[in-house]
Amino acid sequence: MRVIEIPSSRKGYTLVLHGGAGGRLTEFSPEEQATYADGLAEAYEAGANVLESGGSALDAVCATVEKLENNSVFNAGRGAALTSKGEAELDASVMTGNGRAGAVAVSRHAKNPVFLARKVMEESEHVLLVSPTEALVESWGLEVVAPSYFVTPPRQQQLAAVRSETLAGSRHGTVGAVALDKRGQLASATSTGGMVNQHEGRVGDTPIIGAGTYARDGVVAVSCTGTGEAFIEGAVAHEIYARMHYAGTPLADAVVSTIEAELVPREADGGIIAVGADGRICVAHNSPDMFAAFEDNGTLTTWT
Ligand code: ASP
Repeated sequence: MRVIEIPSSRKGYTLVLHGGAGGRLTEFSPEEQATYADGLAEAYEAGANVLESGGSALDAVCATVEKLENNSVFNAGRGAALTSKGEAELDASVMTGNGRAGAVAVSRHAKNPVFLARKVMEESEHVLLVSPTEALVESWGLEVVAPSYFVTPPRQQQLAAVRSETLAGSRHGTVGAVALDKRGQLASATSTGGMVNQHEGRVGDTPIIGAGTYARDGVVAVSCTGTGEAFIEGAVAHEIYARMHYAGTPLADAVVSTIEAELVPREADGGIIAVGADGRICVAHNSPDMFAAFEDNGTLTTWT
């Protein structure tokens, strides 16, 4: 397992993002690695600008995830992993540290599923909507795209390779961000296309509050990536919060002990980003690699 822990920055705010734990760096050419690094840096900048100018943690995580959804190399929004039928079914969620949350599963019409999840939180009485209609997306003033917008040739090739078993294992990825703003508020957002070749209608941990996403002011904000079923069964994001809140476990210990207790016995792999109420960061994964962006002493790191 790889674990990175970074003390609070003096800036008065903190942002961490991830671009998934399903890829293997050795499979990427130096040019491809640079493409990922640039995409992560651009997304980091979008969120950090919000926080720097005094914006909310919620605005920051949404701005960050929007960039990653729009960037077709990441498994979220355009360029998402495809189902066994070759379609994109997108999941996303947001949660603010005051206990509010919104999520969508099997989303096909909103260009940015993260914004749709936010609308569910802010405009509806619900937390999770499955297969939200085009009319609903439009009525909330969000950009609508054709379902084909999300489908890219590299993802079609990846699906064909997984189906013909020339690419081993089930490939995944996801994007997410956690933030602490200058007012001390926490927020988390996560967005994904799920697992390559997943059954149509399969929903992973990303839109399940407490599994792939969780935030509670005064404690922690968490966003996860990895084999979604294990994150749901282990209520992983909430488990990290619970260990910190009820047992007083420090951030990194809570993340590591949750991976050991909930992922390892299920033979699942993945990665977690978390920011504590004091701005301390933890990035940890038991997958071979993980794309994540965070600042360490003023220097931006883009994978671990
Ligand atoms: N957790 C996502 C899912 O199961 C996939 C991933 O993060 O790689 O849908």
